[in-house]
Amino acid sequence: MKRIVLLGSTGSIGRNVLDIVRRHPDQFRVVGLAGHRNIDVLRAQCVDHPDARFVVTDAAAASQVANDPAWRTRFAGGTEAALIDLVRGSDADLVVNALVGFVGLAPTLTALQAGIPVATANKESIVAGGELLLRAARTSGVELVPIDSEHVAIAQCLAGTSRREIERVILTASGGALRDRAPESLAEVSVRDVLAHPTWRMGAKITVDSATLVNKGLEIIEAHWLFGLPYDIIDVVIHPQSIVHSIVRFVDGSMIAQMATPDMRIPILYALAYPNRLKSDLGADVLEFPALSFAPVDHRRYPCFPLAVAAARAGGTSPTILSAANEVAVEAFLGGKLPYGAIPDVIGSALAALPSQPVTSIDDVIEADHATRRWIRDHRTLEPKRN
Ligand code: MG
Repeated sequence: MKRIVLLGSTGSIGRNVLDIVRRHPDQFRVVGLAGHRNIDVLRAQCVDHPDARFVVTDAAAASQVANDPAWRTRFAGGTEAALIDLVRGSDADLVVNALVGFVGLAPTLTALQAGIPVATANKESIVAGGELLLRAARTSGVELVPIDSEHVAIAQCLAGTSRREIERVILTASGGALRDRAPESLAEVSVRDVLAHPTWRMGAKITVDSATLVNKGLEIIEAHWLFGLPYDIIDVVIHPQSIVHSIVRFVDGSMIAQMATPDMRIPILYALAYPNRLKSDLGADVLEFPALSFAPVDHRRYPCFPLAVAAARAGGTSPTILSAANEVAVEAFLGGKLPYGAIPDVIGSALAALPSQPVTSIDDVIEADHATRRWIRDHRTLEPKRN
């Protein structure tokens, strides 16, 4: 029985994690839950998981439950710092990080330093603090296991192979909701257009990142840290069907690809059960798959992608700056304060203005994240759009 603390339980990944827990009651028990402001969903989850203490990170939402006698005894805090206390105060066997954004870094680091393995869908924390997280995991002798479908795929393709045998690692990308639109028509697309993802049902932020392909830039950085891969052997191809989740090409010309229907519960089950495999009825028969196709990335359609790759290769705090600028730009776009076409400009100008610094501690990463948000606030107008 694995005792699980689930951070980000009310989001898309979090709810899928709880679906897996529900399907395997003899394998997993939830001892901690954390959501941001979706209290109704969180209360229902607490009813389902009576052993769980819970955190609400939004201050207004937290004050509602903190004073409610029915919930007070299980309430573990109402700040982002409470995520750290929830992890530290638990006797979990696994922390599952389904948070969105930079906020996920500190609790992941806390868990690894405390010797608790982490299964993470929070790619922003690996992008910003990959070096710190991997060092903490090595020191404690615990694993940082990906939930991201591409990285779960790579892990399976690499099982039982040696580093010397790997020639290329190829991440697949669906291409997002705008992949068939003319590049010159992309500047003013609506939030609704961008959120209509063709194959995956996910949260709003990652769905925008999927349309800009920033998501794949973040995943390149994630792959670099998780598998110790140099950037010059990592490629990306557009694969609209989202059946092949990644491919490894070996020096002898053979390739191994991992396939499954685009259902996040499949990589989540892998990550939760790791290093074992649990039986499930998820997935489909190979004869149900559509015809599979692969295409190169068109940089005109995805101008954020080369920015992300350059930030990855620059190293130091550049990936943090990339990810922070992207978080601010995506939030502004979703809030109607920035046109879609201006997202690459916000990211590119922040990366050009802020120098990359070496990362020696979490403070360097936090400072770079804050400096980026500050710089955008001071230099960019994120106002409601006219029209
Ligand atoms: Mg992914």
